[in-house]
Amino acid sequence: MKTVLWDYLRLIENLYQRSVSYWCREMEAKDIIPAFVSEIKGFLAQDEGLRLFELALEACSLGPCLEIGSFCGKSTVYLGTACKLKRRTLFTIDHHRGSEEQQPGQLYFDPDLFDSETGLIDSFPYFRNTIERAGLGDVVVPIVTKSSVAARDWMTPLGLIFIDGGHSYETVLTDYQCWHPHLLPDGFLIFHDIYLNPAMGGQAPYEVYKLALSSGIFEELPMTNTLGVLRRYKTVMVKE
Ligand code: MG
Repeated sequence: MKTVLWDYLRLIENLYQRSVSYWCREMEAKDIIPAFVSEIKGFLAQDEGLRLFELALEACSLGPCLEIGSFCGKSTVYLGTACKLKRRTLFTIDHHRGSEEQQPGQLYFDPDLFDSETGLIDSFPYFRNTIERAGLGDVVVPIVTKSSVAARDWMTPLGLIFIDGGHSYETVLTDYQCWHPHLLPDGFLIFHDIYLNPAMGGQAPYEVYKLALSSGIFEELPMTNTLGVLRRYKTVMVKE
């Protein structure tokens, strides 16, 4: 693990050095990030992480990126490294009290994250540790609250929005409704945990994904594993 950490930190150091060509740095990042994040708690597959990295690289030419549901920072490292490479900001929103399915007695409860003094889940120390180890402190801006609260006075147009917070229909719908108006034309709206087959997983993210698609303002791009990717049209399409 020490070698992996050293490789990653050397990569991060090199991201700002113009002596190393941009393409070399991008290719190196794709090799190194998966090894670095392999020990971070989380539910993101490697192919999904690498797609997030590629989409963020493209989105950064439009504006900053935003993720909802950071947990311990696995997806944050993929998105944040791309933002660092492009000198952009990644905003992350998570109340860090765990989503519905991570509470005691639920399917994804993790006792490591349970604070017995408060009786609450707290993933923020893990998240902060990930960001510090990854050298992304000057890229990632953590917003520790509910997504609807963070959205209340939000004014910054975004190049990419990644929705991976709570997985109940109401929560995913709220995240979509609060944030998609801030997406720039050509920007990416990405949902995690899209299961086309109901036997494979919960359907709430897919239901909201279909709702977004039916709005007519997004183009559907190819999926990667359970990553559903929409792109905002440059101009609004009017249905006949
Ligand atoms: Mg997820």
